[in-house]
Amino acid sequence: MNANPPLFQFDNSYARDLQGFYVAWEGAKVPEPQVVLFNGELATELGLDAAALETTYGARVFAGIESPEGASPLAQVYAGHQFGGFSPQLGDGRALLLGEVIDRKGKRRDIQLKGSGPTPFSRGGDGKAVVGPVLREYIIGEAMHALGIPTTRALAAVTTGETIYREGPKPGAVLTRVASSHLRVGTFQFFAARGETDKVRQLADYAITRHDPDLAGTDDRYLKLFSSVMQRQADLIARWVLVGFVHGVMNTDNTTISGETIDYGPCAFIDVYDPAAVFSSIDHGGRYAFGRQPVIAQWNLARLAEALLALIDPDDLDKAVERVTEELGRFPDLYKTAWLNGMRAKLGLLNEHEDDRDLADALLAQMQEHEVDYTLLFRALSDAAAGDTDNVQSLFPEPNGMGAWLSRWTQRLETETGNAADTKQRMNSVNPIYVPRNHKVEEALTAAETGDYTPVHSLLNVLAEPFAERDGLDSYAGPAPEELGPYRTFCGT
Ligand code: AMP
Ligand code: MG
Repeated sequence: MNANPPLFQFDNSYARDLQGFYVAWEGAKVPEPQVVLFNGELATELGLDAAALETTYGARVFAGIESPEGASPLAQVYAGHQFGGFSPQLGDGRALLLGEVIDRKGKRRDIQLKGSGPTPFSRGGDGKAVVGPVLREYIIGEAMHALGIPTTRALAAVTTGETIYREGPKPGAVLTRVASSHLRVGTFQFFAARGETDKVRQLADYAITRHDPDLAGTDDRYLKLFSSVMQRQADLIARWVLVGFVHGVMNTDNTTISGETIDYGPCAFIDVYDPAAVFSSIDHGGRYAFGRQPVIAQWNLARLAEALLALIDPDDLDKAVERVTEELGRFPDLYKTAWLNGMRAKLGLLNEHEDDRDLADALLAQMQEHEVDYTLLFRALSDAAAGDTDNVQSLFPEPNGMGAWLSRWTQRLETETGNAADTKQRMNSVNPIYVPRNHKVEEALTAAETGDYTPVHSLLNVLAEPFAERDGLDSYAGPAPEELGPYRTFCGT
Protein backbone atom coordinates (compact mmCIF):
# COMPACT_ATOMS: atom_id res chain seq x y z
CA MET A 1 0.00 0.00 0.00
CA ASN A 2 1.20 3.48 -0.77
CA ALA A 3 1.26 5.56 2.41
CA ASN A 4 2.09 8.78 0.57
CA PRO A 5 -0.73 11.14 -0.29
CA PRO A 6 -1.39 11.36 -4.05
CA LEU A 7 0.76 13.90 -5.92
CA PHE A 8 -2.24 15.51 -7.59
CA GLN A 9 -5.86 15.79 -6.46
CA PHE A 10 -7.19 15.14 -9.93
CA ASP A 11 -10.77 15.88 -10.95
CA ASN A 12 -10.92 14.97 -14.61
CA SER A 13 -13.96 16.62 -16.17
CA TYR A 14 -12.73 16.26 -19.77
CA ALA A 15 -12.27 12.49 -19.44
CA ARG A 16 -15.57 12.16 -17.59
CA ASP A 17 -17.84 14.46 -19.59
CA LEU A 18 -16.44 14.33 -23.10
CA GLN A 19 -16.16 10.69 -24.09
CA GLY A 20 -15.64 10.50 -27.83
CA PHE A 21 -13.49 13.64 -27.78
CA TYR A 22 -10.24 11.85 -26.97
CA VAL A 23 -8.37 8.59 -26.86
CA ALA A 24 -7.16 7.24 -23.50
CA TRP A 25 -3.42 6.76 -23.92
CA GLU A 26 -0.14 6.26 -22.09
CA GLY A 27 3.28 7.90 -22.39
CA ALA A 28 6.18 6.10 -24.08
CA LYS A 29 8.97 4.56 -22.04
CA VAL A 30 12.15 6.62 -21.83
CA PRO A 31 15.47 5.60 -20.29
CA GLU A 32 16.52 8.31 -17.87
CA PRO A 33 14.10 11.05 -16.84
CA GLN A 34 15.63 13.94 -15.01
CA VAL A 35 13.95 17.15 -13.85
CA VAL A 36 15.93 20.09 -15.26
CA LEU A 37 13.47 22.90 -14.46
CA PHE A 38 10.73 22.97 -11.89
CA ASN A 39 8.33 25.80 -11.15
CA GLY A 40 7.90 25.67 -7.38
CA GLU A 41 5.81 28.83 -7.28
CA LEU A 42 3.31 27.45 -9.78
CA ALA A 43 3.25 24.10 -7.94
CA THR A 44 2.22 25.95 -4.79
CA GLU A 45 -0.43 27.92 -6.69
CA LEU A 46 -1.82 24.58 -7.87
CA GLY A 47 -1.91 23.25 -4.32
CA LEU A 48 0.77 20.64 -5.09
CA ASP A 49 3.49 19.35 -2.80
CA ALA A 50 6.60 20.75 -4.47
CA ALA A 51 9.00 18.58 -2.46
CA ALA A 52 7.20 15.40 -3.51
CA LEU A 53 7.40 16.42 -7.17
CA GLU A 54 11.09 17.25 -7.23
CA THR A 55 12.01 13.59 -6.81
CA THR A 56 12.93 10.69 -9.09
CA TYR A 57 9.28 9.65 -8.91
CA GLY A 58 8.26 13.17 -9.96
CA ALA A 59 10.69 12.96 -12.88
CA ARG A 60 9.04 9.72 -14.03
CA VAL A 61 5.61 11.34 -13.82
CA PHE A 62 6.76 14.42 -15.76
CA ALA A 63 8.34 12.17 -18.41
CA GLY A 64 5.04 10.32 -18.84
CA ILE A 65 6.32 6.87 -17.85
CA GLU A 66 4.51 6.76 -14.53
CA SER A 67 0.82 7.56 -14.33
CA PRO A 68 0.18 9.26 -10.98
CA GLU A 69 -2.78 8.21 -8.87
CA GLY A 70 -6.03 9.71 -10.13
CA ALA A 71 -4.69 10.63 -13.58
CA SER A 72 -6.65 9.68 -16.70
CA PRO A 73 -4.07 10.32 -19.42
CA LEU A 74 -5.59 11.02 -22.80
CA ALA A 75 -4.87 12.51 -26.21
CA GLN A 76 -7.43 15.12 -27.26
CA VAL A 77 -8.72 15.21 -30.81
CA TYR A 78 -8.93 18.43 -32.80
CA ALA A 79 -8.72 19.78 -36.32
CA GLY A 80 -7.35 23.10 -37.52
CA HIS A 81 -6.54 25.53 -40.27
CA GLN A 82 -2.76 25.54 -40.61
CA PHE A 83 -1.43 28.44 -42.66
CA GLY A 84 -4.92 28.79 -44.10
CA GLY A 85 -5.42 25.18 -45.18
CA PHE A 86 -7.83 22.91 -43.29
CA SER A 87 -6.52 19.72 -41.67
CA PRO A 88 -9.59 17.77 -40.55
CA GLN A 89 -7.62 15.52 -38.23
CA LEU A 90 -4.90 16.83 -35.95
CA GLY A 91 -5.09 16.16 -32.22
CA ASP A 92 -2.48 15.64 -29.53
CA GLY A 93 0.20 13.99 -31.60
CA ARG A 94 2.80 14.27 -28.89
CA ALA A 95 0.92 15.41 -25.82
CA LEU A 96 -1.18 13.83 -23.08
CA LEU A 97 -3.64 15.50 -20.79
CA LEU A 98 -2.86 13.89 -17.43
CA GLY A 99 -5.89 15.39 -15.78
CA GLU A 100 -7.23 18.53 -14.11
CA VAL A 101 -6.63 19.99 -10.68
CA ILE A 102 -8.47 22.75 -8.85
CA ASP A 103 -5.95 25.43 -7.89
CA ARG A 104 -5.85 27.44 -4.66
CA LYS A 105 -8.18 30.04 -6.12
CA GLY A 106 -10.72 27.39 -7.08
CA LYS A 107 -9.82 27.50 -10.78
CA ARG A 108 -9.72 24.31 -12.82
CA ARG A 109 -6.36 23.81 -14.55
CA ASP A 110 -5.20 21.18 -17.05
CA ILE A 111 -1.94 19.37 -16.47
CA GLN A 112 -0.54 18.30 -19.83
CA LEU A 113 2.65 16.56 -20.89
CA LYS A 114 4.13 17.67 -24.21
CA GLY A 115 6.65 15.35 -25.87
CA SER A 116 5.52 12.19 -24.07
CA GLY A 117 5.51 9.92 -27.12
CA PRO A 118 3.40 9.01 -30.13
CA THR A 119 -0.39 8.80 -29.96
CA PRO A 120 -3.05 7.76 -32.50
CA PHE A 121 -2.89 11.41 -33.70
CA SER A 122 0.85 11.53 -34.44
CA ARG A 123 0.40 11.39 -38.24
CA GLY A 124 3.85 9.89 -38.76
CA GLY A 125 5.59 12.18 -36.24
CA ASP A 126 7.72 10.70 -33.48
CA GLY A 127 5.59 12.12 -30.66
CA LYS A 128 8.68 13.58 -29.04
CA ALA A 129 10.05 16.98 -28.10
CA VAL A 130 13.64 18.11 -27.73
CA VAL A 131 15.30 20.21 -25.13
CA GLY A 132 15.63 23.50 -27.07
CA PRO A 133 11.95 24.00 -27.97
CA VAL A 134 10.80 22.69 -24.58
CA LEU A 135 12.93 25.26 -22.80
CA ARG A 136 11.90 27.97 -25.26
CA GLU A 137 8.25 27.32 -24.39
CA TYR A 138 9.11 27.28 -20.69
CA ILE A 139 11.09 30.54 -20.81
CA ILE A 140 8.82 32.56 -23.09
CA GLY A 141 5.61 31.32 -21.46
CA GLU A 142 6.87 32.28 -18.02
CA ALA A 143 8.07 35.65 -19.35
CA MET A 144 4.62 36.31 -20.81
CA HIS A 145 3.04 35.44 -17.48
CA ALA A 146 5.35 37.86 -15.68
CA LEU A 147 4.34 40.52 -18.23
CA GLY A 148 0.73 39.94 -17.18
CA ILE A 149 -0.32 38.31 -20.46
CA PRO A 150 -2.72 35.34 -20.32
CA THR A 151 -0.77 32.20 -21.15
CA THR A 152 -0.31 28.52 -20.48
CA ARG A 153 2.34 28.00 -17.83
CA ALA A 154 5.29 25.67 -17.42
CA LEU A 155 5.37 23.44 -14.35
CA ALA A 156 8.41 21.33 -15.20
CA ALA A 157 10.86 20.35 -17.90
CA VAL A 158 12.54 16.96 -17.87
CA THR A 159 15.17 15.49 -20.09
CA THR A 160 14.50 11.89 -21.02
CA GLY A 161 17.94 10.45 -21.71
CA GLU A 162 16.89 9.76 -25.31
CA THR A 163 18.52 11.12 -28.43
CA ILE A 164 15.97 12.55 -30.84
CA TYR A 165 16.76 13.44 -34.43
CA ARG A 166 15.75 16.88 -35.70
CA GLU A 167 18.24 18.91 -37.75
CA GLY A 168 20.71 16.59 -36.02
CA PRO A 169 20.83 14.56 -32.82
CA LYS A 170 19.21 16.42 -29.90
CA PRO A 171 18.52 15.56 -26.27
CA GLY A 172 14.89 14.50 -25.75
CA ALA A 173 12.71 16.40 -23.28
CA VAL A 174 9.14 16.69 -22.03
CA LEU A 175 7.36 19.84 -20.90
CA THR A 176 4.64 19.77 -18.27
CA ARG A 177 2.27 22.53 -19.14
CA VAL A 178 -0.62 24.01 -17.20
CA ALA A 179 -3.60 25.63 -18.93
CA SER A 180 -7.07 26.91 -18.07
CA SER A 181 -8.07 24.33 -20.65
CA HIS A 182 -6.75 23.00 -23.93
CA LEU A 183 -9.97 23.75 -25.83
CA ARG A 184 -9.13 25.29 -29.17
CA VAL A 185 -11.01 26.71 -32.11
CA GLY A 186 -9.81 23.53 -33.82
CA THR A 187 -11.59 21.33 -31.26
CA PHE A 188 -14.91 22.80 -32.43
CA GLN A 189 -13.86 22.55 -36.05
CA PHE A 190 -13.18 18.83 -35.77
CA PHE A 191 -16.79 17.97 -34.90
CA ALA A 192 -18.39 20.69 -37.01
CA ALA A 193 -16.53 19.47 -40.12
CA ARG A 194 -17.98 16.00 -39.55
CA GLY A 195 -21.49 17.39 -39.17
CA GLU A 196 -21.64 16.17 -35.56
CA THR A 197 -23.77 19.00 -34.25
CA ASP A 198 -24.64 17.24 -31.00
CA LYS A 199 -20.97 16.97 -30.20
CA VAL A 200 -20.35 20.62 -31.06
CA ARG A 201 -23.16 21.50 -28.65
CA GLN A 202 -21.76 19.23 -25.96
CA LEU A 203 -18.36 20.86 -26.40
CA ALA A 204 -19.82 24.36 -26.31
CA ASP A 205 -21.70 23.58 -23.10
CA TYR A 206 -18.50 22.18 -21.63
CA ALA A 207 -16.60 25.33 -22.68
CA ILE A 208 -19.31 27.48 -21.08
CA THR A 209 -19.06 25.56 -17.81
CA ARG A 210 -15.33 26.02 -17.83
CA HIS A 211 -14.81 29.52 -19.16
CA ASP A 212 -18.11 31.38 -19.12
CA PRO A 213 -20.18 29.84 -16.33
CA ASP A 214 -22.44 32.91 -16.21
CA LEU A 215 -23.78 31.94 -19.63
CA ALA A 216 -24.91 28.47 -18.56
CA GLY A 217 -28.57 27.92 -19.32
CA THR A 218 -29.11 31.41 -20.78
CA ASP A 219 -30.88 32.11 -24.07
CA ASP A 220 -28.61 32.54 -27.02
CA ARG A 221 -25.69 31.20 -25.03
CA TYR A 222 -23.75 29.94 -28.06
CA LEU A 223 -23.64 33.34 -29.69
CA LYS A 224 -22.68 34.79 -26.32
CA LEU A 225 -19.92 32.18 -26.00
CA PHE A 226 -18.64 33.30 -29.37
CA SER A 227 -18.66 36.94 -28.21
CA SER A 228 -16.77 36.03 -25.06
CA VAL A 229 -14.09 34.16 -26.95
CA MET A 230 -13.84 37.10 -29.35
CA GLN A 231 -13.40 39.60 -26.51
CA ARG A 232 -10.69 37.45 -24.92
CA GLN A 233 -8.86 37.09 -28.23
CA ALA A 234 -9.09 40.84 -28.91
CA ASP A 235 -7.60 41.56 -25.47
CA LEU A 236 -4.94 38.89 -25.89
CA ILE A 237 -3.71 39.97 -29.31
CA ALA A 238 -3.65 43.60 -28.17
CA ARG A 239 -1.43 42.56 -25.27
CA TRP A 240 0.88 40.69 -27.66
CA VAL A 241 1.20 43.65 -29.97
CA LEU A 242 1.69 46.14 -27.14
CA VAL A 243 4.65 44.16 -25.86
CA GLY A 244 6.10 43.33 -29.30
CA PHE A 245 5.35 39.60 -29.30
CA VAL A 246 5.07 37.61 -32.51
CA HIS A 247 3.42 34.22 -31.98
CA GLY A 248 4.49 32.86 -35.33
CA VAL A 249 1.96 30.01 -35.78
CA MET A 250 -1.51 31.43 -35.30
CA ASN A 251 -3.25 28.36 -36.69
CA THR A 252 -6.78 27.71 -35.45
CA ASP A 253 -5.52 24.73 -33.45
CA ASN A 254 -3.29 27.18 -31.59
CA THR A 255 -6.16 29.56 -30.81
CA THR A 256 -7.63 28.92 -27.38
CA ILE A 257 -11.19 29.32 -26.15
CA SER A 258 -9.79 30.49 -22.79
CA GLY A 259 -7.92 33.41 -24.33
CA GLU A 260 -4.54 32.12 -23.19
CA THR A 261 -1.47 32.16 -25.41
CA ILE A 262 -0.62 28.58 -26.34
CA ASP A 263 2.11 26.69 -28.22
CA TYR A 264 5.29 28.69 -28.26
CA GLY A 265 7.03 27.51 -31.40
CA PRO A 266 8.81 29.94 -33.71
CA CYS A 267 7.74 32.90 -31.56
CA ALA A 268 9.89 35.94 -30.84
CA PHE A 269 9.88 39.49 -29.52
CA ILE A 270 10.57 42.22 -32.04
CA ASP A 271 13.62 44.39 -31.61
CA VAL A 272 13.11 47.19 -34.15
CA TYR A 273 9.51 48.20 -34.66
CA ASP A 274 8.36 46.57 -37.88
CA PRO A 275 4.80 45.40 -38.63
CA ALA A 276 6.20 43.05 -41.29
CA ALA A 277 8.50 41.25 -38.84
CA VAL A 278 8.48 37.45 -39.28
CA PHE A 279 10.80 35.15 -37.36
CA SER A 280 9.53 31.73 -38.41
CA SER A 281 11.51 29.83 -41.02
CA ILE A 282 8.31 28.28 -42.41
CA ASP A 283 6.18 31.44 -42.66
CA HIS A 284 7.32 32.30 -46.19
CA GLY A 285 4.34 34.51 -47.05
CA GLY A 286 4.43 36.46 -43.80
CA ARG A 287 0.91 35.28 -42.98
CA TYR A 288 1.65 35.52 -39.25
CA ALA A 289 3.79 38.68 -39.34
CA PHE A 290 3.80 40.93 -36.26
CA GLY A 291 1.34 43.47 -37.63
CA ARG A 292 -1.03 40.90 -39.16
CA GLN A 293 -1.87 39.24 -35.86
CA PRO A 294 -5.18 41.11 -35.28
CA VAL A 295 -6.39 40.34 -38.81
CA ILE A 296 -5.46 36.70 -38.40
CA ALA A 297 -7.19 36.49 -35.02
CA GLN A 298 -10.37 37.73 -36.68
CA TRP A 299 -9.92 35.17 -39.45
CA ASN A 300 -9.54 32.42 -36.85
CA LEU A 301 -12.65 33.65 -35.05
CA ALA A 302 -14.55 33.44 -38.33
CA ARG A 303 -13.63 29.74 -38.39
CA LEU A 304 -15.04 29.39 -34.86
CA ALA A 305 -18.18 31.21 -35.97
CA GLU A 306 -18.63 28.72 -38.82
CA ALA A 307 -18.23 25.81 -36.44
CA LEU A 308 -20.94 27.22 -34.15
CA LEU A 309 -23.49 28.10 -36.85
CA ALA A 310 -25.73 25.10 -36.32
CA LEU A 311 -26.00 25.97 -32.62
CA ILE A 312 -26.64 29.66 -33.09
CA ASP A 313 -29.81 29.11 -35.05
CA PRO A 314 -30.58 25.44 -35.63
CA ASP A 315 -33.66 26.27 -37.74
CA ASP A 316 -32.36 29.02 -39.96
CA LEU A 317 -28.76 28.89 -41.10
CA ASP A 318 -28.99 32.16 -43.03
CA LYS A 319 -30.16 33.89 -39.88
CA ALA A 320 -27.30 32.31 -37.92
CA VAL A 321 -24.79 33.55 -40.51
CA GLU A 322 -26.27 37.04 -40.35
CA ARG A 323 -26.15 37.22 -36.56
CA VAL A 324 -22.66 35.85 -36.11
CA THR A 325 -21.29 37.94 -38.99
CA GLU A 326 -22.60 41.06 -37.32
CA GLU A 327 -20.99 39.97 -34.07
CA LEU A 328 -17.66 39.19 -35.74
CA GLY A 329 -17.76 42.64 -37.35
CA ARG A 330 -17.22 44.12 -33.89
CA PHE A 331 -13.78 42.55 -33.62
CA PRO A 332 -11.75 45.39 -35.16
CA ASP A 333 -13.25 47.89 -32.71
CA LEU A 334 -12.77 45.59 -29.73
CA TYR A 335 -9.17 45.10 -30.75
CA LYS A 336 -8.53 48.80 -31.38
CA THR A 337 -10.03 49.77 -28.04
CA ALA A 338 -7.95 47.20 -26.18
CA TRP A 339 -4.82 48.27 -28.01
CA LEU A 340 -5.43 52.00 -27.57
CA ASN A 341 -6.13 51.63 -23.86
CA GLY A 342 -2.87 49.74 -23.51
CA MET A 343 -1.02 52.28 -25.61
CA ARG A 344 -2.33 55.14 -23.47
CA ALA A 345 -0.91 53.40 -20.42
CA LYS A 346 2.42 52.93 -22.20
CA LEU A 347 2.47 56.66 -22.93
CA GLY A 348 1.63 57.57 -19.34
CA LEU A 349 -1.86 58.82 -20.22
CA LEU A 350 -4.80 58.29 -17.91
CA ASN A 351 -7.56 60.28 -19.59
CA GLU A 352 -8.86 59.62 -23.07
CA HIS A 353 -8.34 62.28 -25.73
CA GLU A 354 -9.57 62.15 -29.26
CA ASP A 355 -6.16 62.40 -30.91
CA ASP A 356 -4.39 59.81 -28.71
CA ARG A 357 -4.44 57.28 -31.50
CA ASP A 358 -2.84 59.74 -33.87
CA LEU A 359 -0.21 60.60 -31.26
CA ALA A 360 0.68 56.92 -30.87
CA ASP A 361 0.66 56.28 -34.61
CA ALA A 362 3.00 59.22 -35.17
CA LEU A 363 5.46 57.71 -32.71
CA LEU A 364 5.24 54.25 -34.29
CA ALA A 365 5.77 55.73 -37.75
CA GLN A 366 8.98 57.39 -36.58
CA MET A 367 10.14 54.19 -34.93
CA GLN A 368 9.49 52.21 -38.08
CA GLU A 369 11.20 54.72 -40.33
CA HIS A 370 14.33 54.85 -38.17
CA GLU A 371 14.32 51.16 -37.15
CA VAL A 372 14.16 51.93 -33.46
CA ASP A 373 14.07 49.25 -30.79
CA TYR A 374 10.47 49.00 -29.55
CA THR A 375 11.15 47.98 -25.94
CA LEU A 376 14.01 50.43 -25.40
CA LEU A 377 12.01 53.33 -26.79
CA PHE A 378 9.05 52.95 -24.45
CA ARG A 379 11.35 52.54 -21.49
CA ALA A 380 13.27 55.67 -22.52
CA LEU A 381 10.00 57.59 -22.78
CA SER A 382 9.46 57.30 -19.04
CA ASP A 383 12.73 59.18 -18.51
CA ALA A 384 11.46 61.78 -20.93
CA ALA A 385 8.25 62.08 -18.87
CA ALA A 386 10.50 63.05 -15.96
CA GLY A 387 12.31 65.63 -18.10
CA ASP A 388 15.30 63.70 -19.45
CA THR A 389 14.86 63.26 -23.20
CA ASP A 390 18.44 62.10 -23.95
CA ASN A 391 17.62 58.39 -23.91
CA VAL A 392 14.80 58.85 -26.40
CA GLN A 393 16.78 61.14 -28.71
CA SER A 394 19.81 58.85 -28.73
CA LEU A 395 17.71 56.06 -30.27
CA PHE A 396 17.14 58.22 -33.38
CA PRO A 397 19.72 59.27 -35.98
CA GLU A 398 19.04 63.03 -36.00
CA PRO A 399 20.23 64.92 -32.87
CA ASN A 400 16.80 66.42 -32.20
CA GLY A 401 14.78 64.16 -34.50
CA MET A 402 12.06 63.51 -31.97
CA GLY A 403 11.76 67.09 -30.73
CA ALA A 404 8.42 67.81 -32.39
CA TRP A 405 6.80 64.58 -31.29
CA LEU A 406 8.16 64.93 -27.75
CA SER A 407 6.77 68.41 -27.33
CA ARG A 408 3.38 67.27 -28.63
CA TRP A 409 3.38 64.39 -26.15
CA THR A 410 4.60 66.62 -23.30
CA GLN A 411 1.73 69.01 -23.93
CA ARG A 412 -0.67 66.07 -23.88
CA LEU A 413 0.85 64.84 -20.60
CA GLU A 414 0.27 68.28 -19.08
CA THR A 415 -3.47 67.71 -19.43
CA GLU A 416 -3.12 64.85 -16.95
CA THR A 417 -3.16 65.25 -13.19
CA GLY A 418 -0.25 63.90 -11.14
CA ASN A 419 3.42 64.79 -11.10
CA ALA A 420 6.22 63.67 -13.38
CA ALA A 421 7.62 61.16 -10.88
CA ASP A 422 4.25 59.41 -10.71
CA THR A 423 4.04 59.33 -14.48
CA LYS A 424 7.50 57.84 -14.78
CA GLN A 425 6.72 55.15 -12.24
CA ARG A 426 3.39 54.38 -13.86
CA MET A 427 5.01 54.05 -17.28
CA ASN A 428 7.76 51.83 -15.93
CA SER A 429 5.14 49.51 -14.48
CA VAL A 430 3.71 48.80 -17.95
CA ASN A 431 6.76 49.19 -20.20
CA PRO A 432 9.09 46.27 -19.52
CA ILE A 433 12.83 46.74 -19.47
CA TYR A 434 13.51 43.00 -19.81
CA VAL A 435 11.81 40.91 -22.50
CA PRO A 436 13.08 37.58 -23.84
CA ARG A 437 15.56 39.01 -26.32
CA ASN A 438 16.14 36.52 -29.11
CA HIS A 439 19.90 36.30 -28.73
CA LYS A 440 19.59 35.79 -24.98
CA VAL A 441 17.07 32.99 -25.46
CA GLU A 442 19.29 31.34 -28.10
CA GLU A 443 22.37 31.66 -25.88
CA ALA A 444 20.54 30.00 -22.97
CA LEU A 445 19.14 27.18 -25.13
CA THR A 446 22.51 26.45 -26.71
CA ALA A 447 24.14 26.15 -23.29
CA ALA A 448 21.32 23.91 -22.03
CA GLU A 449 21.77 21.54 -24.97
CA THR A 450 25.26 20.86 -23.65
CA GLY A 451 23.96 20.38 -20.11
CA ASP A 452 24.73 23.86 -18.74
CA TYR A 453 21.51 25.28 -17.28
CA THR A 454 23.08 28.32 -15.61
CA PRO A 455 22.12 30.77 -18.42
CA VAL A 456 18.54 29.40 -18.47
CA HIS A 457 18.18 29.99 -14.75
CA SER A 458 19.67 33.47 -15.02
CA LEU A 459 17.33 34.35 -17.88
CA LEU A 460 14.27 33.02 -16.02
CA ASN A 461 15.24 35.11 -12.99
CA VAL A 462 15.62 38.27 -15.06
CA LEU A 463 12.33 37.74 -16.91
CA ALA A 464 10.40 36.99 -13.72
CA GLU A 465 10.52 40.72 -12.93
CA PRO A 466 10.38 42.43 -16.29
CA PHE A 467 9.56 45.91 -15.04
CA ALA A 468 12.15 46.33 -12.26
CA GLU A 469 15.52 47.62 -13.44
CA ARG A 470 18.34 45.89 -11.59
CA ASP A 471 22.10 46.40 -11.52
CA GLY A 472 24.29 44.24 -13.70
CA LEU A 473 21.57 43.23 -16.14
CA ASP A 474 22.34 45.65 -18.98
CA SER A 475 23.08 42.83 -21.39
CA TYR A 476 19.46 41.64 -21.06
CA ALA A 477 18.01 45.07 -21.77
CA GLY A 478 19.07 45.67 -25.34
CA PRO A 479 18.99 44.17 -28.82
CA ALA A 480 21.59 41.73 -30.11
CA PRO A 481 24.91 43.10 -31.25
CA GLU A 482 24.65 43.63 -35.02
CA GLU A 483 27.33 41.07 -35.86
CA LEU A 484 24.91 38.31 -34.77
CA GLY A 485 22.85 39.06 -37.90
CA PRO A 486 19.11 38.59 -38.48
CA TYR A 487 17.21 36.18 -36.30
CA ARG A 488 15.03 33.22 -37.32
CA THR A 489 13.44 30.43 -35.32
CA PHE A 490 13.13 27.09 -36.97
CA CYS A 491 9.97 25.11 -36.84
CA GLY A 492 11.75 21.84 -36.13
CA THR A 493 9.97 21.59 -32.83
P1 AMP B 1 2.16 22.46 -33.05
O1 AMP B 1 2.94 23.01 -34.19
O2 AMP B 1 3.00 22.06 -31.86
O3 AMP B 1 1.01 23.32 -32.66
O4 AMP B 1 1.56 21.09 -33.59
C1 AMP B 1 0.66 20.94 -34.67
C2 AMP B 1 0.20 19.50 -34.75
O5 AMP B 1 1.29 18.65 -35.07
C3 AMP B 1 -0.40 18.94 -33.47
O6 AMP B 1 -1.40 18.03 -33.84
C4 AMP B 1 0.77 18.25 -32.85
O7 AMP B 1 0.37 17.25 -31.95
C5 AMP B 1 1.46 17.66 -34.06
N1 AMP B 1 2.91 17.44 -33.84
C6 AMP B 1 3.88 18.37 -33.75
N2 AMP B 1 5.09 17.80 -33.57
C7 AMP B 1 4.88 16.47 -33.53
C8 AMP B 1 5.72 15.32 -33.36
N3 AMP B 1 7.04 15.44 -33.20
N4 AMP B 1 5.13 14.10 -33.38
C9 AMP B 1 3.82 13.96 -33.54
N5 AMP B 1 2.96 14.98 -33.71
C10 AMP B 1 3.48 16.23 -33.69
MG1 MG C 1 -0.45 23.31 -31.48
